[in-house]
Amino acid sequence: MGLAAAASVSHNRARAADGSPSRTLYIAAYDTESPNCLAACKKIVAVHKQLEMPATFFLVGRTLEANAAEYKMLLSDPLFEVASHTWSHKLLCDNAMCGKAVSPEEKRDEILKSKALIEQVFERPCVGLRPAVGFDTGLKGAADVLALVREAGYRYVSSLLWGPDCSMPALIEAPFHYGADGSPGLWELPGHGWHENLLKDNNRWGPKRLTLWPSPMPEGIPTKFVKTPDDEFQVNRVFLEKAREWGKPHVSLIWHPWSLNAFDPDMKMLELTFAHARRIGLTPATFADLAKQMAVGQA
Ligand SMILES: [Zn+2]
Repeated sequence: MGLAAAASVSHNRARAADGSPSRTLYIAAYDTESPNCLAACKKIVAVHKQLEMPATFFLVGRTLEANAAEYKMLLSDPLFEVASHTWSHKLLCDNAMCGKAVSPEEKRDEILKSKALIEQVFERPCVGLRPAVGFDTGLKGAADVLALVREAGYRYVSSLLWGPDCSMPALIEAPFHYGADGSPGLWELPGHGWHENLLKDNNRWGPKRLTLWPSPMPEGIPTKFVKTPDDEFQVNRVFLEKAREWGKPHVSLIWHPWSLNAFDPDMKMLELTFAHARRIGLTPATFADLAKQMAVGQA
């Protein structure tokens, strides 16, 4: 984040309708990972520009490579952070729901090549990595992956994207650094709530053993797949309101352009969610803003 972005965070520091200040950041973020994401991103970017909402786009390297000029034109805007979603969406660690980690050589490509391409295309630093699918303990104990993340020079990862025991939803975890794993300067900035594609059965998984019992957040678990943009918003608002109520540093839902567009081509859910974030006094920001804030607090 540059000085301009820092100023915009404090400038946007919001107050709720009741006038009480909130220190919770709201971060819109998109795991941009398939050919269908480009058309979706055009609609998403239009909503963000209209509403002046910042966002972080985590790009898969191969997805960017396939349409570099178009993504550059779309996302070269001070509202947006562009970060990495790996080179080709391969797993850096085992995930009980999604499969096994790839080889050491492949991990190196996944972590380093995407960052290099983003920096070449956008001509600005890429400071964050969201590993494909994410993990229920982040990168804790993943010494080989953390060494590559350090080598690449990322300032943060957003890898804690599941609840305990690989359940949904991901709880509203606060950022932490990887000092216990030898990387005190590297921050984990978790994602929260549902991988929205699972809420809609857009992966065609059908019913799965996905929720935890007893649930620490039963109010965040709908009884069935969501059917409308408003259904989805009603799930989202639980996480936004709880993050604010609990005074969390941030809240960020786990969204995928291809899935959002397939379910809600008018992007109504985005408008509902952004309006609510502002209504309850959350401060719009990017993950890079949050990483900067955490590093300043650590110093
Ligand atoms: Zn992904």
